[in-house]
Amino acid sequence: MKTLLAIVISILFHLVAIGQGNTSSPKLVVGIVVDQMRFDHLYKHQDKYGEGGFKRLLNEGYNFKNAHYNYSPTVTAAGHASIYTGTTPSVHGMVGNSWFDRNLDRGVSNVGDSTATIVGSMEVNMRGVSPHRIMSTTISDQLRMAYNYQSKVISVSFKDRGAILPGGHTANGAYWHDWQTSNGYFVSSSHYMDSPPQWVVDFNESGKASKYLDFVWNPVFPMERYPECTEDDVPYERTFGGKPTPTFPYEFNEYRKLSAGSSRAYQMLWVSPAGNSLLTDFAMEAITQETLGADAIPDLINISYSVPDAAGHSFGPQSIEVADIYVRLDRELERLLNFLDERIGEDQYVLFLTSDHGVVPVASYLDANNLPTGIARITLFEDALNKYLKEKYGNKEWIQNFDGANIYLNREIIREEKEDLTEIQQAVADFMMDQDGIYLALTAHQLTFNEYRSGMRSMLQNGFHYDRSGDVLLAFDPGYVQHGNPNIQVSQIKGTGHGTGWVYDTHIPIVWKGYGIPQGNSVRKVAITDIASTLAMILNLQLPSGNTGQPLKELFNE
Ligand SMILES: [Zn+2]
Repeated sequence: MKTLLAIVISILFHLVAIGQGNTSSPKLVVGIVVDQMRFDHLYKHQDKYGEGGFKRLLNEGYNFKNAHYNYSPTVTAAGHASIYTGTTPSVHGMVGNSWFDRNLDRGVSNVGDSTATIVGSMEVNMRGVSPHRIMSTTISDQLRMAYNYQSKVISVSFKDRGAILPGGHTANGAYWHDWQTSNGYFVSSSHYMDSPPQWVVDFNESGKASKYLDFVWNPVFPMERYPECTEDDVPYERTFGGKPTPTFPYEFNEYRKLSAGSSRAYQMLWVSPAGNSLLTDFAMEAITQETLGADAIPDLINISYSVPDAAGHSFGPQSIEVADIYVRLDRELERLLNFLDERIGEDQYVLFLTSDHGVVPVASYLDANNLPTGIARITLFEDALNKYLKEKYGNKEWIQNFDGANIYLNREIIREEKEDLTEIQQAVADFMMDQDGIYLALTAHQLTFNEYRSGMRSMLQNGFHYDRSGDVLLAFDPGYVQHGNPNIQVSQIKGTGHGTGWVYDTHIPIVWKGYGIPQGNSVRKVAITDIASTLAMILNLQLPSGNTGQPLKELFNE
């Protein structure tokens, strides 16, 4: 009898051990990043959304309505790194899509890596990329480490940074769309692999990308069903493909014919809703072929949709084009959710949807509607500052680089001339405060030795990294856009951008659904850095090495 009990206990222990000690975990984490998705896109076009996409996430999942980026600059590289590391550029070091490297005396790209090569591309000599510049682990790295690299992490996007940064240092594979060569293949880096797996080769050779480029884009619904948008033909939008007006229909195939022989035809997929369909196909193929979510060891896939960003830059968030991109993305989301339900099981995966930054309405649109806007004229700033410093400190090149919101001083000359770096930084900040369109200028010294807890000072501090950022950081007035052309008028601005610490750039969706996630919503102000902390708690993992976020407590029964 005693022996039988011992056997039963032994069997029970064994069953528990099969789960590797982690008896309760989702099989798959699905991270969806919609590049440049403002919070209001969740709601603005809802009369045109189906029941199975965005609305399903809101009806079945948990919606953080007041979620924000907690730093400036709000750009793609910083955003993707912050989502997956759960910290800000001040720690993970991605202070821009590119930044000036004082020692190299040139700009460097966030993922650029001369020791890596592109794999799977039709062109062999392309410059390599890797995650080597992220200074923290990501939640994907933590997952890989926790299960001794038996967890699989795959990351896909149209942008290299949209794929590489979420995958962290140890992803099994990151794949992105290679628009620079002729066939628009999904490619990867030698950081992950020597050559792409056969399923990627097969996908690339399937002709899908070419088929999607044949797509003729008209809005899903008649134009009058988009009353939340401006007219189709307005001066706020950029044109492309040799088309004289920014209007429907967009016949991408016509542009392909015009650019015959050019390697850039597939770049058109970046502003076409068909690009999102191609990425969804590729993500589903990755889940199937890499058998993600197939066993008790959790896996992770990141899917970063880049098309809304490219289209948003061209047409602005008020356009029918961008609205229709979201109406069609809603359908892609439904397709993806149905696929995940079927393949992984509705309660077996946890999904979050967020964005890497928002965007400001087009400046000329704001101006035409009497809303605050203006131009931060970078070249005029640089000329005026140069003149001022030469008059004050002598005829030397005191500025090493003026890079938008970052001013790098020439520290070598400052040393040679025995000037005081902190004092010159302060003189520059004081001078810049008097320029038109400057809200705030803070020095590297201030940002290093003070602690700011709220407002724009804190936003700049969270985006500041001593080794990578400038000697003086600038914040422009709300609604202002930077421009290199000193003579351009606000009414002439076409298209828009992002990168500031103002709420139009920081307010983004954070919606969760699936494994253990309750239904509900909250207006508590939460930060983008909370996503990785939350995932660590759901998956019972160690937090990423630089993590500074807080778990979203509403998702946990306490
Ligand atoms: Zn972006």
